Amino acid sequence: MKNFGFGLMRLPMLGGEVDIEQVKKMVDRFMEEGFTYFDTAHPYIGGKSELAIRECLVERYPRESFVLADKLSSSFFKTEEEIRPLFEKELEACGVEYFDYFLMHSQSRNSYPKYCDCRAYEIGAELKAEGKIKHLGLSFHDTAEYLEKILTEKPMVEFVQIQFNYADYDDAENQSGKCLEVCRKFGKPAIVMEPVRGGALVDLPAEAKEILESTGKSCANYAIRYAASFDGIFMVLSGMSSLEQLEENIAFMKDFEPLSEEEFAAVDKVREILDSVETIPCTACKYCTEVCPKNIAIPSIFSTMNEIKRFGKEHVWIGEFGERGPENCIKCGKCEKACPQRIAIRDELAEAAKILG
Ligand code: SF4
Ligand code: SF4
Repeated sequence: MKNFGFGLMRLPMLGGEVDIEQVKKMVDRFMEEGFTYFDTAHPYIGGKSELAIRECLVERYPRESFVLADKLSSSFFKTEEEIRPLFEKELEACGVEYFDYFLMHSQSRNSYPKYCDCRAYEIGAELKAEGKIKHLGLSFHDTAEYLEKILTEKPMVEFVQIQFNYADYDDAENQSGKCLEVCRKFGKPAIVMEPVRGGALVDLPAEAKEILESTGKSCANYAIRYAASFDGIFMVLSGMSSLEQLEENIAFMKDFEPLSEEEFAAVDKVREILDSVETIPCTACKYCTEVCPKNIAIPSIFSTMNEIKRFGKEHVWIGEFGERGPENCIKCGKCEKACPQRIAIRDELAEAAKILG
């Protein structure tokens, strides 16, 4: 199987509907070049991603000629009893009798306990034994330490999908590099999502862009090949939204070459430029949240603010902090006494409330 997969979360749209004709062309070109991996999920494009892949791929190609991944997303089930009907609904939406890869979606300390309470992993293992899933895995958004906990507790997990890109390799919150190390330690092959970091690594600052493009290769080329160059990574996904984007990506992934030493050095220079932006020096140690009476999501808020500083607000996914948002800080100052980095947390939160609000 080739190591480049088609993420189906940002398909081209036409008047509020998926542009089916364009997706058919994208699927055809992808398959023609020998790529076979497609990744969808029930919530993608409000359920339209699954239906589109049924029409553009499943109904037009023999089942054994492609590899289809889908996910169990927490917003669609509340109890153990709801998991199997949801799974059947997803099979039906995609028009298949089995999924090659099936993932517990977006696992983190916020979502994982619910999957445990509902026996989601155990049900996944049963579905695998019944032949309805070929490989059971998870997609992950938390620290390396938390990934280690899940992999220890759930040995039925066969593979892990992680956020992995050169900008986040050493990032305190995303911990790309450390998460990959955990996958390797547990012998779990990794799939990469967001190698271009939601477009931010394509739309780089001019100085950084020049370093990469002066070598005759695009920023996307560097970002995707970077992710695919590490041992333990067997698949890199890209959420492609046009035939043009797909053509560009398959041109450099069809005869994949890992980054050369010179290319890794060019990426290091780009990372230096991104890292030179002044950010909040939060290490995500979470000492502050242990003492905060309002349970403000301080490290996550700072991570979001740092991403905005580095990549611009348009490239940053801003989560819902709800009650834990910066505007709910009562300025008691307890967090600042606990912070080993001596961050002026109250001032930073006030700034964050203005920008994120
Ligand atoms: S100053 Fe704000 S963030 Fe810090 S501990 Fe008090 S309420 Fe929490
Ligand atoms: S204590 Fe300071 S460094 Fe640690 S998570 Fe909180 S703000 Fe970040």
